[in-house]
Amino acid sequence: MKKKVLQSLTVGSAIIFMLAGCGGNKTETKESTKKETKTEASSTDVATGASAQAYTDPKDLQDKYDIVIIGAGGAGMSAAIQAKDAGKNPVILEKMPVAGGNTLKSSSGMNASETKFQKESGISDSNDKFYEETLKGGHDKNDKELLRYYVDNSASAIDWLDSMGIRLNNLTITGGMSEKRTHRPEDGSAVGEYLVHGLLKNVTELNIPIFVNADVTEIKEKDGKISGVKVDMKETKEKKEISSQAVVVATGGYGANPEMIKAEKPELDGYVTTNQEGSTGDGIKMIEKLGGQVVDMNQIQIHPTVQQDTGILIGEAVRGEGGILVSEDGTRFINELDTRDKVSAAINQLKGKAAYLVFDSGVRERVKAIDFYDKQGFVKKGETVADLAKEIGVKEDALDKTVTDWNQAVADKKDAQFERKTGMDKPLDKGPYYAIKIAPGIHYTMGGVKINAKTEVLTKDNKAIPGLYAAGEVTGGLHGTNRIGGNSVGDIIVFGRQAGDQSAQYIK
Ligand code: ADP
Repeated sequence: MKKKVLQSLTVGSAIIFMLAGCGGNKTETKESTKKETKTEASSTDVATGASAQAYTDPKDLQDKYDIVIIGAGGAGMSAAIQAKDAGKNPVILEKMPVAGGNTLKSSSGMNASETKFQKESGISDSNDKFYEETLKGGHDKNDKELLRYYVDNSASAIDWLDSMGIRLNNLTITGGMSEKRTHRPEDGSAVGEYLVHGLLKNVTELNIPIFVNADVTEIKEKDGKISGVKVDMKETKEKKEISSQAVVVATGGYGANPEMIKAEKPELDGYVTTNQEGSTGDGIKMIEKLGGQVVDMNQIQIHPTVQQDTGILIGEAVRGEGGILVSEDGTRFINELDTRDKVSAAINQLKGKAAYLVFDSGVRERVKAIDFYDKQGFVKKGETVADLAKEIGVKEDALDKTVTDWNQAVADKKDAQFERKTGMDKPLDKGPYYAIKIAPGIHYTMGGVKINAKTEVLTKDNKAIPGLYAAGEVTGGLHGTNRIGGNSVGDIIVFGRQAGDQSAQYIK
């Protein structure tokens, strides 16, 4: 498909409203190419995560589609676009009042190797290196078939997005990676809202019906094949059965389901979550009822840098662009860009189980998301390092020495203290200086339903369930026991596309 996004909608600001937890005005779509009648995004939508997109009117819901796609995050929307491009008639059913899921909240970017944007920036990367580093980050527990497919199809996924006007040409690095392969929007802003906005715009332009407040409660099977779903339309209070030859489950993870988290990993009981409230593991439960296999269910990622009052994640790009972590004593305590599990564990060892993310104006200019964190009131400021130390209540001389030593390590290209090797391109020497207080929070569920590289859902004896596909955070295996930052956006696009293609091919 060659399609350009024509103009920017006002989604970004709507999403900012959501993240900020404050209300906003009623928004409506500027252009609508859908045949179906549209409902406007309500003011609540804006307040809870909306886009300016109008969704399909619930009364236009049909009894039959070729493919039902459950969930309107990145995986679901990618699958829908690909299935539609293959000439099929998909529908997207989303239980929340708005599209986007956790994808909307993703910050760092999308990992991919051997891309045209890396080449343009003079970065020589390889799929094999990306494979090896992801495997190392996942402690060698990754599903190797999925991982191979993922890295080998990452560059074409970047091109596919670009062909739809979703351009991720600004490169940064995340923990556990040795190359700049995390692709962000040109201005360095958080990837999630830009991506969701772009996908939703393409879904609309392709006339793909997308229903919100549409909670899928069951996946139906007949004669050993998938035959459709049951959906609870929350606005009209109608319960409906929809028939389809194939179903793509793209319902995301279970990071917002405290019972499931506690059952799988009791020690995480009480942790804040960065997840949106729709991430309750529904897809996993529905697939298990059909005899589907689940893997790695107790592999739950805690992200090291989460603002604790709001559950808002402070993106890894802040460290990738040069930020450091300091304890209450004003000293560094870890290679800040070690993998998420190790950095989280180190923070949990500190007094107060929290740390400060410290950076300068240079980092702030390079990471646009910091403006958003500032609007939330998270960012403390000092004209000098000593002023900042006073502001956050750590010893001035200690923080001063930490920043001086760090800048020396950057100049020497050698961090003798913690062996950090990345995110050291520039020193922290441009005032004013800033700090955000963070601690770990539940972020991502690595486990989920077992699929093969065709995204077919497998039974306990590894047989594909005919007509059932899954992609994105609902699946398990790709990330092993620790997901690398930037690999979930890659996952949802690569496997979302594959689920759309494969389900379309499956249909006679
Ligand atoms: P991914 O990153 O894998 O695309 P997201 O979290 O971004 O996952 O998106 C998953 C979407 O699926 C969310 O918007 C979520 O609200 C939606 N969802 C979850 N369960 C259901 C369900 N039972 N019916 C419809 N939509 C669902």
